Amino acid sequence: MKKTYGKLDVLKGITTSIKPGEKIAIIGPSGSGKSTFLRCLNRMEEPTSGLIIFNGQGITDRKADIDAHRRQMGMVFQHFNLFNNKTVLDNIMLAPVYLALRDLRRLKWRNRLIRLRNLFRREKLPLHPINTSKAQIKAEARETALRLLKRIGLEDKAHVYPSTLSGGQKQRIAIVRALAMNPKVMLFDEPTSALDPEMVGEVLDLIRQLADEGMTMVIVTHEMGFAREVATRVLFMDGGSIVEDDAPERIFTNPQHPRTKEFLSKVL
Ligand code: ADP
Ligand code: MG
Repeated sequence: MKKTYGKLDVLKGITTSIKPGEKIAIIGPSGSGKSTFLRCLNRMEEPTSGLIIFNGQGITDRKADIDAHRRQMGMVFQHFNLFNNKTVLDNIMLAPVYLALRDLRRLKWRNRLIRLRNLFRREKLPLHPINTSKAQIKAEARETALRLLKRIGLEDKAHVYPSTLSGGQKQRIAIVRALAMNPKVMLFDEPTSALDPEMVGEVLDLIRQLADEGMTMVIVTHEMGFAREVATRVLFMDGGSIVEDDAPERIFTNPQHPRTKEFLSKVL
């Protein structure tokens, strides 16, 4: 997969595969293309060329449903990206409710068309079963959101606005907001880089819990200790390429590539 911005080759040909259950840490110097790579995975950026296959489907296929794709990939950013004009609870409920209501609307439209068709052509095509309602969708999303807040010990923050929270609390909420979509993969882009040092631990602990529960994840991080402990594989990126791809023990104790050695000697 390649990505260029104008004349700038940001990703120069990335080839890799990620299996269910893997925890991939991406490390490397600033500007090496780590964020761009993650953003291509969930189609926040379109690759310039190449192929990304997820669940057996090319995600840049014209037929691919971008929302269906994104809802299976939770994304967490360095700067949280919470909606500051919405309460914590609304932040978590927003996307699941929006998508479920859209699905419901679509089903109702399809049923309208089927009814018309049955009427005019004297056919008896079955309607799509609809076993939910607007109210039910909202109630379920609310229940999920409250359960997730409880999980991270922040149920008392459900009705406050993000500006009243610490960075660590904001980031943990951003993580459970992504989880509310029940994703198959979680993508983290330097989730602790914007935090005061005393808050890094609470966020890493939550990510570690998800890893232990078997979540597939790709995490761009400068926390080398964390990468070493949690990752099943480490990718070292430099200059738009994956320079080294290996088990954490090997990358951190016996890196093969001179550029990996040089990078690690600076950060460790
Ligand atoms: P990293 O996350 O490893 O620091 P990025 O993926 O953010 O690296 O950026 C890689 C390179 O691509 C950098 O040189 C950056 O300036 C450039 N870049 C990133 N996004 C854009 C963009 N939207 N337009 C132009 N250049 C970009
Ligand atoms: Mg980045």
